[in-house]
Amino acid sequence: EWQTAEAYVNQVFEAVKRRNPNEFEFHQAVKEIFDSLIPIFAKYPKYIEHNILERMAEPERLITFRVPWVDDQGKVQVNRGFRVQFNSAIGPYKGGLRFHPSVNASIIKFLGFEQIFKNSLTGLPIGGGKGGSDFDPKGKSDGEVMRFTQSFMTELYRHIGQDIDVPAGDIGVGAREIGYLFGQYKRIRGGYEAGILTGKAPIYGGSPARPEATGYGTVYFVEEMLADKGMGFKDSTVVVSGSGNVSIYAIEKATQLGAKVVACSDSNGYIYDKNGIQLETVKRLKEVERKRISEYVNFHPEAEYVEGSTGIWSIPCDIALPCATQNEIDEVYAQILIDNGVKAIGEGANMPSTLEAIDLFLENKVLFGPAKAANAGGVAVSALEMSQNSMRLSWSFEEVDEKLQMIMKNIYRNSVKAADEFGYHDNLVVGANIAGFTKVADAMIAQGVI
Ligand code: GLU
Repeated sequence: EWQTAEAYVNQVFEAVKRRNPNEFEFHQAVKEIFDSLIPIFAKYPKYIEHNILERMAEPERLITFRVPWVDDQGKVQVNRGFRVQFNSAIGPYKGGLRFHPSVNASIIKFLGFEQIFKNSLTGLPIGGGKGGSDFDPKGKSDGEVMRFTQSFMTELYRHIGQDIDVPAGDIGVGAREIGYLFGQYKRIRGGYEAGILTGKAPIYGGSPARPEATGYGTVYFVEEMLADKGMGFKDSTVVVSGSGNVSIYAIEKATQLGAKVVACSDSNGYIYDKNGIQLETVKRLKEVERKRISEYVNFHPEAEYVEGSTGIWSIPCDIALPCATQNEIDEVYAQILIDNGVKAIGEGANMPSTLEAIDLFLENKVLFGPAKAANAGGVAVSALEMSQNSMRLSWSFEEVDEKLQMIMKNIYRNSVKAADEFGYHDNLVVGANIAGFTKVADAMIAQGVI
């Protein structure tokens, strides 16, 4: 059975590569999932009979569109917009929008594909989607961001809906952009459909704890993983890459749990503060003033700034939380982290470790919390935001935070259980992928050839 399963997976992977030439990030995400599904295909041939894998790897729909806008000099600019509606077997498409110059079909597809399994793992009824644009918000004025964002929604609105597809934020899309997107959608539609987007500010339908959810959730997940081995964040040294929304709240929760977070970064470089990062400074610089992280040393002269962001992984730590972007830890940095005695990795970003880096962590018995499990707290609270919008009610911060903690615990337990069932003890990559896959695959089978 194993050989049949392996042959099937390899054959579908070849088809994916043929259909999506040169989309390396997408191939990487597909490869990671596919390899870890071989055990389930060997045990349950029904998935091969229904050709589930090939259907899953082909998005239900991929939309690309022109986004024209006028810059502050009066010049007309053009960007490309994307929305991938990957899988709706268990709920409306759900996933963020990323505004970053690196965005292309490969990036959107890798993110959308991951989102299917992540969303399923949350236990909530949400399908997988993703979108974004190659627009670079860095250095743009508030007016430029607004005009671009309004133009983006002027096309996107026709493809989405509260029960169809519900976007949210990702890199480059935070509370400000969600606000502009929501306002434009509301003008076009002429009605208040609160659940059309998540990540809204609480004053107009957002959920308490949504900003905190991804970062807190990653820390809750890692705390669970550590507790299983008699460890915890208390008195540990932690390195968190990035300084955006995920990173900031991961630093906050890790610190609350008694860890010392000594470093964080942006795309230019990293700061090292041996006394522990002063989070208020990072929040002010990044969330309010939209400045570079290098400015941190002007306020804390004892800290060091080093040019080049991935160098952050050469800092010795007990726990590493990559919360910046894809492929930020390669095998070279993975080996350095291992040599420096790292005990646990929690992926706050999407696909921050290369396939080679993951293999090294697993071979060396480093506790490894893969992105689709560890960072699922963000989209989970987005689903809770949708529930609150449907009820026209909102819960308190404490209620949402408590639900988030439960959800992260369940994701951890379900991943461990799935890994154990197939003989992959302590391999949460296999566990999370199988646990996320099963529900979607069974729903697809139940719904016929879709
Ligand atoms: N962009 C986040 C993610 O990668 C959140 C998506 C959402 O809230 O819909 O899961």
